[in-house]
Amino acid sequence: MNKEYKVPTWESGVRQLAPNIYAYIQAKATWYWSNAGFIVGNDYVVVVDSLATVGLTQKFKEEIRKITDKPIRYLINTHHHGDHIYGNHVFAGATIISHDYCRREAIEQGIRDPGLMNTIFPEFDFRGIAVTPADITFDMQLTLHMDGREVRLLHFGPGHTAGDIIVHLPAEDIIFASDFIFLYSTPLGMEGSFAGWLRNLNAMANLGAQTYVPGHGPVCGVEGLNLCRDYLVFVQREARKRFDKGMTVDEAAEDIDLGQFKQWPNHERILANLERLWREFRGEDHTTSKLDIAELFLRMDNMAKAGEL
Ligand SMILES: [Zn+2]
Repeated sequence: MNKEYKVPTWESGVRQLAPNIYAYIQAKATWYWSNAGFIVGNDYVVVVDSLATVGLTQKFKEEIRKITDKPIRYLINTHHHGDHIYGNHVFAGATIISHDYCRREAIEQGIRDPGLMNTIFPEFDFRGIAVTPADITFDMQLTLHMDGREVRLLHFGPGHTAGDIIVHLPAEDIIFASDFIFLYSTPLGMEGSFAGWLRNLNAMANLGAQTYVPGHGPVCGVEGLNLCRDYLVFVQREARKRFDKGMTVDEAAEDIDLGQFKQWPNHERILANLERLWREFRGEDHTTSKLDIAELFLRMDNMAKAGEL
């Protein structure tokens, strides 16, 4: 067993990455526990992502307020998943920026059934969550010029979803990577493209940053990016062998030995990943060949609970 994959512990809270640049990290990397961040300028603050619930986002905002009372002018949404946008309205008054697809998809999906969500994820209080879509959208690149500091929002094509962006601070060699990187938590590719995600990781690595803030997991260097890539390569390869043998997704999920990745929580996500990969192997387009996510959540929940027996 390679010790690099062993899940360490880490603290939740604000981490200063450079002068005026902060990550907001959760001590868990499991379902709906996501990271965020913020950048403090001379006159205003830029926030990177809200969180999964109103309560979690309010706590995040309180942490920002311990550091600065400057107005929060921009809220960047890295993609449309609820754990990055459901608390947007806590930052009322901020101008929200996202990729074009993120805005469209957030509106189309709306909020998930809170009853279902509370049943599957009982540790969260989803009351009051909302979809507050972006005011400004873009396709490939948008740069904020913040007191001479460049804050580059970059899209590299479909990956974790079809509309992910990263926030690159070139002068500081910092990247808010969002769900490009799941670290010590099973990557989830149900709505994107595995081939695309791997290409995106290479494109991101080529930017040469020293510090990455994953969407889930502790702040890391390029080694964190590489561990996430290892999972994607492994699952893509093992899936392909079984797809070529004519196995179903469920048969393959049962058959694949996750090996060192078994240590990472939420390994039931293999089901969602295989559903996506089966479509990708058949050449289907990820933006039109969509999965029934509520149904998938239930199947994954059943698999996780069966694993606990
Ligand atoms: Zn996500």
